[in-house]
Amino acid sequence: MTAEMARSLAFGRGRATTSTPQSWLADVDPIGVDDADFASVGGLDEHVFSLKEMIILPLLYPDLLEKFSIKPIRGVLFHGPPGTGKTLVARALAHECSRISGQKVAFFIRKGADCLSKWVGESERQLHLLFEQAHLLRPSVVFFDELDGLAPVRSSKQDQIHSSIVSTLLALMDGLEDRGQVVVIGATNRLDAIDPALRRPGRFDRELLFSLPTLNQRMEIFRIHTRTWVPPLSLALIQEVMEHCDGYSGADIRHLCTEAAFDALREKYPQIYEKPVRFLLDTSALQVSKHNFIRAAQKIKVSSQRNQKVYSKALPKYIEPLYKVIIISLYLFLFKL
Ligand code: ATP
Repeated sequence: MTAEMARSLAFGRGRATTSTPQSWLADVDPIGVDDADFASVGGLDEHVFSLKEMIILPLLYPDLLEKFSIKPIRGVLFHGPPGTGKTLVARALAHECSRISGQKVAFFIRKGADCLSKWVGESERQLHLLFEQAHLLRPSVVFFDELDGLAPVRSSKQDQIHSSIVSTLLALMDGLEDRGQVVVIGATNRLDAIDPALRRPGRFDRELLFSLPTLNQRMEIFRIHTRTWVPPLSLALIQEVMEHCDGYSGADIRHLCTEAAFDALREKYPQIYEKPVRFLLDTSALQVSKHNFIRAAQKIKVSSQRNQKVYSKALPKYIEPLYKVIIISLYLFLFKL
């Protein structure tokens, strides 16, 4: 199949669906690149800069790389806690590539476990098809979300299926010789769970850590998620709210904004929750204030704390006489008072 045929088959339909007549292509169709761009990514300027340098520059100026015999990047690994913007950045990258280079960049997104099949050899076949399609539709970006599900560390105890998939992926990545025209991005929450062979230069050359945002980064993300709100939130309010959101990921901040907006709605128009009819609402009178964010923050549980069990708790008041004397004398002894 020629590139033109593949392009017309894939882009003619837009988003991949399973009801396509060409069912053999269904699992390897690119998805439509949405309108997420780098402007909707907050607090990750360094990552955005290095991605531009690694991926967009080779697309725009392949001759520049040739002049200095620079090998283009084949793969980038995003790692970090959930909800820190890994998928968002990959989508924004595909969008920006299309916008800047002026040509359509095919974007293939796969969840690690989606590529697994119950039939022996089927996953490998799908991977081959995916890379073939990405090559035909180049320039293209192949994004493997939750890569640890697809390419876990190979061990002697592990089943043969994963070993074979990892080997296939290694071979396919080694086969990418498109002068930076096909880029593979992998994302994972667990870097240690990925097969180390994938992490050597020439495969996933670069690793970008997406950590939980700092105060300034949180303020930036918060500003992005509330930028369309009327009236706009003041800088002082943004700072005050975000100072209390230590440990929040980008996804948590978005959740906080949604909850705060619902809280304001409940407060202003409680009747819409009570009557099963549609009211005519004056949305311009709806305003989200500090107390809405406080109530919202009390309601949500931050994703970084969801798995944490806290076993410690304050000792009960009634046993205080038992330890108070000992602690005070220990304190006096230590500090020689
Ligand atoms: P997972 O590892 O669970 O797949 P992820 O790191 O891929 O998570 P995303 O899916 O990219 O996280 O983020 C979820 C949502 O959180 C995004 O769609 C976006 O609305 C918001 N978000 C996360 N990080 C940022 C950010 N840096 N700037 C703006 N929005 C963000």
